[in-house]
Amino acid sequence: MQHTPPITSALLAALSTQAGPLGARAAAGYLRDRGFDVSESTVSRLLRELDDQGLTQPLGKKGRVLTEEGRRSAANLLLDSRRSASFAKALNLRDVQDLVDHLAGRRGIEREAARAAALRAQPEEIAQLRSMMETTGSGRWQERLGFHRAIGHASHNKQIQAVTSTLFDERLDPLEHLLILIGIKQEALVRWDKEHRDIVSSISERDPDGAERLMVVHLDGMIRDTEHFANSGNAHVIHALLAEIEPA
Ligand SMILES: [Zn+2]
Repeated sequence: MQHTPPITSALLAALSTQAGPLGARAAAGYLRDRGFDVSESTVSRLLRELDDQGLTQPLGKKGRVLTEEGRRSAANLLLDSRRSASFAKALNLRDVQDLVDHLAGRRGIEREAARAAALRAQPEEIAQLRSMMETTGSGRWQERLGFHRAIGHASHNKQIQAVTSTLFDERLDPLEHLLILIGIKQEALVRWDKEHRDIVSSISERDPDGAERLMVVHLDGMIRDTEHFANSGNAHVIHALLAEIEPA
């Protein structure tokens, strides 16, 4: 069940916590208690859809129970929602230490992303990375985040892709604004851009060791710049800007 609507997930959760069969009226009450504005007839229709998908089956006139397949789906949806809640929690950065931890986590993932991209990137992906390096003018900060996102994608390692696509979620764009502010104040932007170009060169030259090493240098530098900025009396600036970011 991909892209399960929240109301359907909640309905499956209701059925899975139920010892016996669940009727449409009781299910509608359960959903309304959880903030869904829903009528009994809508719930009846949703339940018939679940029947059609083989996830529920009627039990006499008392209501419905989950099938074996339905129990599996309900359990998977619960795991999915726990997983996204734990990512949202991790991305809810509050102070300088959270931000430094975030960059250190990126360093661990992105060194592998850069290494894998040097081995696996398609020629058109390398061309795209190169053309990103040539873009100038305002709005460049978007390309910076896009650069890291593109390398994650070009790793062609689905484990890395799953993590990097979450780390570079567009809801975290305000975080990129904060990093750019730090880069400006620490006069590091020119250096960061050069490091991006060097990483792209290593990937183009199919040099995994070089790409990995340069990505570590790049993230190490960003961590150092962030710490210097915070330690020069600017921790409150970081805290104020982080407070404005609502990742979930
Ligand atoms: Zn960068």
